[in-house]
Amino acid sequence: MGNTAETELIMIPGPVQVAPQVLRALSKPMINHRGPEFKKILDESREKLRSLFNTESDVIILSGSGTCAMEAAVGNLGGHKKFVAIENGKFGERLKLLTSLYGSSAPIIAEWGTSINTDKVKQALQEGADAVTIVHNETSTGMTNDVEQIGALCRKYEALLIMDGVSSIGGIEAPIDKWGVDIAFTGSQKCLGLPPGLSMIAVNERAWDIIKTAQKRPFYADLIAHMKSADKGQTPYTPTIPLFFALEEALKMLEAEGLSERINRYRTYATSIRAAIEAMGLELFPQPSASSTYSNTVTAIKMPSGIDFVSLKNEMRRRGIIIAGGQERLKGHIFRISNMGSISEGDILQVIEKLELVLLEKGVVSEMGKGTLAADCVLEGL
Ligand code: PLP
Repeated sequence: MGNTAETELIMIPGPVQVAPQVLRALSKPMINHRGPEFKKILDESREKLRSLFNTESDVIILSGSGTCAMEAAVGNLGGHKKFVAIENGKFGERLKLLTSLYGSSAPIIAEWGTSINTDKVKQALQEGADAVTIVHNETSTGMTNDVEQIGALCRKYEALLIMDGVSSIGGIEAPIDKWGVDIAFTGSQKCLGLPPGLSMIAVNERAWDIIKTAQKRPFYADLIAHMKSADKGQTPYTPTIPLFFALEEALKMLEAEGLSERINRYRTYATSIRAAIEAMGLELFPQPSASSTYSNTVTAIKMPSGIDFVSLKNEMRRRGIIIAGGQERLKGHIFRISNMGSISEGDILQVIEKLELVLLEKGVVSEMGKGTLAADCVLEGL
């Protein structure tokens, strides 16, 4: 391949580019996870995470990837719960599988990449449900679901709302308290710009009241056990200490930049990528409507005819850029470019320029749709 990981630009929707100071933090010597140094990192990180989550709720940090928090969110409600699982992509599907594992699941399924019919959610709530699950930003389709509308319905029909914010929290506005979200979670390898391996979950009082009465909870992701330990500045089991060092550093960087500035920066990057894609004559994959928008953290593009994903991926990699394909049923039909993590305007420009070069070279596009270089669109947007 010629390139080494150090010179490549990883533009997949997690893991993402990690800043050098965060990488350096990973190599610090180990500390006692029952000692004061760890307590300080944990306490301060949990406090800062409340700002990241826009919440008054407690935030728990789990040593486990995003799916660990998904399981914690669903599994801690105690079994026999009636869930309404909203699915319009791969991660909605994963939540649906988890809800049927831990309770009974009445899924509301829309074609992947299309909007949810909120009337169907309302109807399901009228028929009685304990909790609703929704993915805020469907990483698999590049579309963001309107959680606010679902939150209002959940409040009206007194059901809990569980929100997967794995590829939105810290990158797309998500005021969870205001929206009436009871449990929300994210993962480390997305908007926070960390390596994979940590997840963070916010739980409000309404949700705690149910969790506390639950007869059965998962063992490793038992939120009561995690909360009891967190109150002492610890975790119930050995934490991934290097990732906590990295989290401390990533949160400092976020604080220095400002959450709304970070969100705005991501919005500009994603808008520019979309403009450039359209200028190249390519088509965006999702079909947002009243209850969804294009994602500002990941762009999903329909595979153009004249090239397959493997060739595109290899040609991009030869030029030092790593892009993602589609998952499951979307494999071969789409490719995805993320704008999360430690990246700059220059990186976005480079990705677009190289994509354009590959497509021109392969004869997929002969001239730019609007007669302008796609890269100009990026420059205009940035
Ligand atoms: N939810 C969403 C929206 C995701 O994008 C992902 C991962 O890409 C997950 C959940 C699962 O996270 P992980 O792969 O870290 O377990």
